[in-house]
Amino acid sequence: MVILDMLFPRKCHLCGEELAEGERFVCGLCRYRIPRTMYHTMPLNPVEEKLAGGPPFVRATSHFFYSHDSSAASLIYDFKYNCFPSMAREMGYWVGTELLPTGFFAGVDVLQPIAMDPIRQARRGYNQAEMFARGVSAATGIPIGDNLRTTRRHTTQTRKGSIEREKNMKGYFKAYHGEELTDKGVMIIDDVCTTGATLRNAAEALKDVPGIQIFYLTMAAV
Ligand SMILES: [Zn+2]
Repeated sequence: MVILDMLFPRKCHLCGEELAEGERFVCGLCRYRIPRTMYHTMPLNPVEEKLAGGPPFVRATSHFFYSHDSSAASLIYDFKYNCFPSMAREMGYWVGTELLPTGFFAGVDVLQPIAMDPIRQARRGYNQAEMFARGVSAATGIPIGDNLRTTRRHTTQTRKGSIEREKNMKGYFKAYHGEELTDKGVMIIDDVCTTGATLRNAAEALKDVPGIQIFYLTMAAV
């Protein structure tokens, strides 16, 4: 039990209260209070506007609001830098569970997480976009694809402006066994949508697959 507690601390990451049976990482009340964007209900939502300059796509949404002091941001920080990969999966499960009944996944055959450069991934020990996708997959039953690769080492984007980010991402991804995605609905998945440059460039790498239909889902959006 002690070891299990170390693996899964039994306190809420947001309020510090003891978790109830069946709750993981965040208590029911805090989870309920994380602000949702409800973008999936809007015909042309702000995330879709950001992505409009890239390859054609069917739908896009980000589930939570992200700002530096938001509860979603503090959870994302924990799973990115404080080694809680299974929290990314848990949040994917929440997002998948909430969006599934809305029909947002209609036409989606494959969930494709954003690829991470292998050295960076080895250093972190996991790819948080993939962990998030695993949770979405567990909630929806949609399989995860392995059809995206990076072409070079990553340089950090955090302090870059949007034009620089765009340049930094050009040609960063390539399709891997793209033929597996022929005539499929492919949902590109990442943790946070900032300018949309990463998502659009991932779509650039996949857009020439015959008959592909692109969707996007991120956990949170700025
Ligand atoms: Zn709480």
